[in-house]
Order: sequence, then structure tokens, then C-alpha cells
Amino acid sequence: MIVILKQNAKKEDIEKFTKQIEAKGIKVSPMVGEHTTILGFLGDTTRLDMDDIMAVDIVESVRRVQEPFKNANRKFHPQDTVVRVGKQGVPIGDGRLAVLAGPCSVESEEQIIMVAKEVKRLGATVLRGGAFKPRTSPYSFQGMQADGIKLLLEAKKETGLPIVSELMSIRHIDLFADIDIIQIGARNMQNFELLKEIGRCDKPVLLKRGLANTMEELLMSAEYIMAEGNQNVILCERGIRTFETYTRNTLDITAVPVIKKLSHLPIVVDPSHASGQSWLVEPLSKAAAVIGADGLIIEVHNDPKHALCDGAQSLDFGQFEKVMGELKQLRETV
Ligand code: PEP
Ligand code: MN
Repeated sequence: MIVILKQNAKKEDIEKFTKQIEAKGIKVSPMVGEHTTILGFLGDTTRLDMDDIMAVDIVESVRRVQEPFKNANRKFHPQDTVVRVGKQGVPIGDGRLAVLAGPCSVESEEQIIMVAKEVKRLGATVLRGGAFKPRTSPYSFQGMQADGIKLLLEAKKETGLPIVSELMSIRHIDLFADIDIIQIGARNMQNFELLKEIGRCDKPVLLKRGLANTMEELLMSAEYIMAEGNQNVILCERGIRTFETYTRNTLDITAVPVIKKLSHLPIVVDPSHASGQSWLVEPLSKAAAVIGADGLIIEVHNDPKHALCDGAQSLDFGQFEKVMGELKQLRETV
């Protein structure tokens, strides 16, 4: 961190400020010019708040030269993190493309078991399914809630597939004891109390990027979870809000290589929520695979036309089979 002091900064004030910073275990290296003094803060500056520094009387401006996240930072952890999911330890981030697939929402026992069996047969290694749904309207289907979780566990028993499902409130955490990956949805990416609570368990977390959040904010949210001890974080690029209205969101494909450069955590792409349209899932999945994503999370439904949530973006079994085939071919080519 580089701190430029005001021209009239008094020597005794500079000394006092230096001592305060050194007391936090940070080395302060001054550069004294004719008119201006610049202080270089060396060491772990992630715990320093730029706003607090700016509020000091003698400070003119502050600049970070290091990212404000540490646990998630590749600089401190050069190797890729491989998150192992469920009893079988299904890997995410081991260099292969993991596919997490299933319906937006659990709708019935018959539906979830049927979808689970099909996506497994076609090569998915994790079953997705929402039980608690974050809907824009309170009058829309809110998910089967606790019953939905029970049915997901049935599907797990039936197929052996580990389960990913969204947790919206810490009040429901006990219901998630046998869920293998806790999804934190886009709308809760900055629910910091929820992130801290999730950080205190050691279950893998699928952290989705918020609708209007930067890549750095996504990594800071991962940092919230990791700072509490849970290192099993999988990031998810699921499209962001832009001025474009043709698609539901805009897939920020650039986030994949940028996140890979900044962080050792695996990143998966959600082409379903990014596009909102089933025909776009195949090209976006291919783009994600080629650019280096660690996985895909894809909505698949037995009867998309009659889905209770997100039918327009859900693939039927035939479409999912085609995407999986194309991805296989692509991997062989690459
Ligand atoms: C979902 O995965 O069904 C979902 C609601 O995702 P997001 O939080 O990305 O909108
Ligand atoms: Mn959905």
C-alpha cells in the first residue's frame, strides 16, 4: 500500500501515524521528498481499511498495490485448489470439466429422481436442484423448501450423485446437513453474515457472482468464507446485469481467466442463468470449456415447457445429451 502525505504534514504527526501502522505488524518505509513524503506499507495489508487511512488528517491519497484478499489470492497459494465433493470426493478444479446438472427447482419425487438418473447417465457428476428459491416475486413458486431437500436426498440415495442446493437463510442450515455443496446465490453474494456462518462449516460452497458485482467483490465474498476457516469455495460466473436486454444476463466470460489469474479457487460457469434461453446454453458451455472453466452448472428438466421455474433456459434430456457430446468432442480437439 502506498500512502501519499499532505505537503504540510508535520514530522511529529508522521511519526505518530507510522507508529500506529507499525503496531499492526506492518513495516513502514518512508520516502522523503523536498515537498512530499510517501509511505510504503509493507507486509500483510489486507486488514488495513483504505477508508480509515484516508480519514487520517495528514493523508492526501492511498493506493493499494496488492489485492485486498489473502486466502483466495493465488500469490499466497500458487497451486490450483481442488474442492472434493461428497463422500466419493468428486473433484472440482482438477483440470477436468465438472458438470453439475439438474432442474432449477425440485418439483416432485418422480421429477427429481428421473432428472438425476438421466443427468448421471449423460455424464454429470453433481446433481443440482433448488429447494429454497430466490424469486423476484413473492407470488411465484418459492420452491418445495424442506420437502425439496428431502427429495434431493432421495435422489442422492438413488443415484449416488452428490447434491448442490441453495441456502438462503442460516435458519435452514440444519436441513442442509447431508447436502454436499451449499450454493450461495447471486442475490446473497454480499449477505456477509450468511457468508461468515458458512465459513464456520467445512462443507464446499458454490458462491455465485452477484448481478451487479465486480470480480474483486466476488473474491472478497470468498474471502469472508475463507477467513472463517472454510477453504472449500467454488466460484461461479452466472452472468451480470448490463444494458443488453436480449439475454437474461450477460455472461462475463472474461471473468474466468481473470479469476484464474487472481485466485487459486475453481470457477464454474452457469450458462443457463447467464443467457436465460436454452439454445444459448450449448455455445456458452463450449466457450466456458475452451477458456478454462473448471466446470459448468446447467439447468436440465424432464419437461422444460411445464417447469415451475426457469423453463425457458432449461435443457431437455436430448439437448443435454447433445451438449455433453459436443463438450466431449471439444475436449478431445483441445
Ligand atoms: C439458481 O441457480 O437457480 C439461481 C437462482 O441462481 P442465481 O443465484 O445465479 O440467480
Ligand atoms: Mn434457475
